[in-house]
Amino acid sequence: MDNKQNADVFDEGMRRKFDLMPGFDKDFQADPTPAFRKTDPHAMDNLAAGGQAGSEAQSAGASSEGASQAAGSLPVREKAEKSFGHRDFAAHDLPGYNRGPGIPYAFSNNPRAGQWDARKMSANRIASYKRFVVTDGEGIRNSIYVAGCPFRCQNCWNASIWDFQAGHDFTPAFEQAVIDDLRPSYVEGVTYLGGEPMLNTPVLLKISNHIRQEFGDTKNIWCWTGYTWEELMRPGTTPDKTALLGMCDILIDGRYIEGLKDSRLQFRGSSNQRVIDVKKSLAARREAQEQGLDPNSVAPVIWDKLHDQKRVIAEAYRKDRDAGEGRD
Ligand code: SF4
Repeated sequence: MDNKQNADVFDEGMRRKFDLMPGFDKDFQADPTPAFRKTDPHAMDNLAAGGQAGSEAQSAGASSEGASQAAGSLPVREKAEKSFGHRDFAAHDLPGYNRGPGIPYAFSNNPRAGQWDARKMSANRIASYKRFVVTDGEGIRNSIYVAGCPFRCQNCWNASIWDFQAGHDFTPAFEQAVIDDLRPSYVEGVTYLGGEPMLNTPVLLKISNHIRQEFGDTKNIWCWTGYTWEELMRPGTTPDKTALLGMCDILIDGRYIEGLKDSRLQFRGSSNQRVIDVKKSLAARREAQEQGLDPNSVAPVIWDKLHDQKRVIAEAYRKDRDAGEGRD
């Protein structure tokens, strides 16, 4: 079978899975062809310019919708929706609502609040499990990759597990293995990745509850999600997502935006994504509420140990070498 035939079989498989999936939004089925097969470099150039301007406008306090339009990204979005099959489902629901940096993004799906519901979509599958890793958060950790992600960001690193049926069934034996692997004192905690953790809450809430029962707060939980913090805080978000968020210590949020890719960022692929201290962010919202303020006006609190690289490695070494380091 050649590459094209392989890809066609994959598309057909995806199409059938989505057709059979209970609760899946029918609009989403309009074009289930994976985005990475339809790259348009010119559209990406436009996006890179628009995306950057958009995030600057947001940090100055403008709404994301306004920022996107000011940056001229709306035609790009329309073009992407047409040629990539991506959708901004929330476009008409939340006028003026700040949906987070870079969102809506032309080259991913952008869900309404509550549109995607893990309780209907998750197949309770684990795509991968890696023990004792040092790349998925602070310290030595164990990483659980859940199966299934409908965001479909262009050039997603893990497109092979967009399918909710990828991997293996979640079992009690797996749950116990996760607990046992957390016992060594040198393991700091567990990390949830995917796939989309917020759309696999039946599995991850079970594991999180078990971890808290067994270890209290002595082990931490990090979670990577395609949702932005602001999207998770929208009215109408399903309660399982906020429950899982409440169990996490650190959230890395937002879609992967190719035009904002930066390999110097700590724990993120693109500069729209944030490393958020969940407990401090929720406390800040509660405080605002107690003062009669709108909690959605409070920005999430960034992890205080965040340490992005300022220069690429080659530049850093060149400077040290030019300064004489390593010579007698
Ligand atoms: S949210 Fe993450 S896993 Fe999902 S498509 Fe985007 S980059 Fe891939």
